[in-house]
Amino acid sequence: MENHLRAELTLSGAPPHGTEDLAAFLPELARETSARILGARGTGGLTTWELVGDRLTLVLETEGVRPHQLLLALVKRIGEELGRRWKVGVRSLTVPLYRLHFQLEVVPTAPIGLPLPHRLHREGPSATLELLDLGEEAIRENWADRAVALLKEKARHQSYAGKEQYWALLTASPRREMRTDADPTEAMLARNWIRSGPTKGKWFLGPSAAHLLRTMDRIAREEVLGPLGFSEVVQPHHDSFDILLKTGHLEGLPGEFYYVAEPKTRDPAAWERFTDLVKITRKVPTEELAGLVTGPTAVSCYAQCPTIYWWLSGRTIANDSLPLKVFDRSAVSNRYESGGRHGLERVDEFHRIEPVYVGTKEQLLALREELLRQYAHVFDRILELEWRTAWVTPFYLQQSGGVGVEDADARIKGTIDFEAYLPYRGTREASEWLEFQNLSIVGEKYTRAFTIKAQKGELWSGCSGIGLERWLTAFLAQKGLDPRDWPARFREYAGEMPREIQFL
Ligand code: ATP
Ligand code: ZN
Ligand code: MG
Repeated sequence: MENHLRAELTLSGAPPHGTEDLAAFLPELARETSARILGARGTGGLTTWELVGDRLTLVLETEGVRPHQLLLALVKRIGEELGRRWKVGVRSLTVPLYRLHFQLEVVPTAPIGLPLPHRLHREGPSATLELLDLGEEAIRENWADRAVALLKEKARHQSYAGKEQYWALLTASPRREMRTDADPTEAMLARNWIRSGPTKGKWFLGPSAAHLLRTMDRIAREEVLGPLGFSEVVQPHHDSFDILLKTGHLEGLPGEFYYVAEPKTRDPAAWERFTDLVKITRKVPTEELAGLVTGPTAVSCYAQCPTIYWWLSGRTIANDSLPLKVFDRSAVSNRYESGGRHGLERVDEFHRIEPVYVGTKEQLLALREELLRQYAHVFDRILELEWRTAWVTPFYLQQSGGVGVEDADARIKGTIDFEAYLPYRGTREASEWLEFQNLSIVGEKYTRAFTIKAQKGELWSGCSGIGLERWLTAFLAQKGLDPRDWPARFREYAGEMPREIQFL
């Protein structure tokens, strides 16, 4: 049979006549339970069983449907019968062996494994997985199906490792005259507008750079978010693990987070040795410190939308409040960019406005058009950038067929990247343009994950990431640092620049 499961039950005692007692009811009970649980979905049931003292071994074999639901139902029924007849209960349940056959859609080219005790045999696409020593939680929580899904996913990932994400040009602005070909980070460093921060990948923005970053923030609010009816929220800066489990970020990006640890205590006595060591050595006693703080308990904000979804979780939004349009600009994003860091455009800490929208599919599609129109107004008439938009789809989504990429009509769920030409990187054709913001509609993924409901029908959601450092670098890379080269409407917005601080 396709699926084979061996379970061991420890009973609270032995029935008076042992095997004989069980033989009187178990086979019939198993037939009845199999018929009820498997129904038309599959065949099979209890194939062998053995009672030794208070240990009952059950072997289930099924075809078409996996047997762990059946096992749970059968164990429950056995418990009821034993209790009723002899006041014997089921103390514990373990599954020493769970064997599953399945087909991989993609034949893996390198070994694939699981973080659970297991054996995997594979011939071409056909695979046999033996999960070993599963506990009751693993059975109840359906780890077996998740393990099979994970192996399939890993095989699929191997097939597109290193491939580019799908990219299709949507719109392109007119070509603009470039006022500079300098790297804006270098130019700002030379003028002391910014200084490389005291910790990895962070920058200190002096008054001039800060003023321009805040100007970008104002333009986004006054020209895009305000006119479209978005309201500001202020959210906490730490993202809980629970939230990131729901959004999928925790499995998707664990190597990109900054993790938060807490002191185990604030009792000064507990910290005395630490403080004494600091006073004497004038160094950080890192080993001592490690013993005084917890492991990670949360992550520093990675993106703002997960916590906004948390805010709405379990709630029903009144029709009158739809589409719901909010944005956060208080949580600062932290990301471990590692080798990818570059200048002010790829940093470990950045400032972003994140608008989030929730509504019916029609409302969101209409809102996307409005957002695109207002963004275009800013980039064409205020910043006067040379920019373009592209429909992008990560390779894994293309494969799973969830997103229309060929057909413009099917471009409903997905992401639009906004990219600016950076002359310092080379020619328009050969250089990589900078993604300075994006706009997504994710469908019902997060509204479902966080149980966000409408009075009627299903809600969709989406978000847009307005990266202020990216707006700033895109602008300065094309226009330079001299206000006389800036477009008139941007100059009006910026007003008077702060007096530059002279360092000797
Ligand atoms: P990239 O592909 O450049 O790494 P991303 O896909 O990781 O960007 P998102 O997670 O979609 O970016 O974040 C939305 C926006 O946040 C981006 O369009 C960009 O403006 C900004 N952003 C993301 N990462 C950084 C960073 N390391 N430094 C500055 N801004 C960033
Ligand atoms: Zn988001
Ligand atoms: Mg990134």
